[in-house]
Amino acid sequence: MSSSPADLVREFHLAFGLDARSTPTEVAPDLAAHRGELLAEEAAEVAEVSVGGPLDRLAHELADVVYVAYGTALVHGIDLDAVIAEVHRSNMTKIGPDGEIARRADGKVLKGEHYETPDVRGVLRKQGWSGGTPDSGRSSE
Ligand SMILES: [Mg+2]
Repeated sequence: MSSSPADLVREFHLAFGLDARSTPTEVAPDLAAHRGELLAEEAAEVAEVSVGGPLDRLAHELADVVYVAYGTALVHGIDLDAVIAEVHRSNMTKIGPDGEIARRADGKVLKGEHYETPDVRGVLRKQGWSGGTPDSGRSSE
């Protein structure tokens, strides 16, 4: 088994009898809420140590966030590696065709005119998701 986060977290979920799906799926609200709470707890722990450290604690809490995020993706049947690759593809379009990078005064990289938003819906559809019709979430109904 590889040491990628997705594989490690899958091993954990299978060993402990936790949910693991292979197709993107909306799950029961109580399970979805539980996963959100776990992730919020870990994110809060990162915030606690992000300024004062110590560095080993920060590293631990960052790993916990990633671990729980991968676990939440697995519970929902999302191949998170593929989603991250799409977000990365999108982020790299912030570099213009001539290599120019637009920055705000505080250094934040801005979205230039060639920026492409990530097509997360398309990635999930390739994974077998049938939800998220083009109008979902945009309708006034
Ligand atoms: Mg933690």
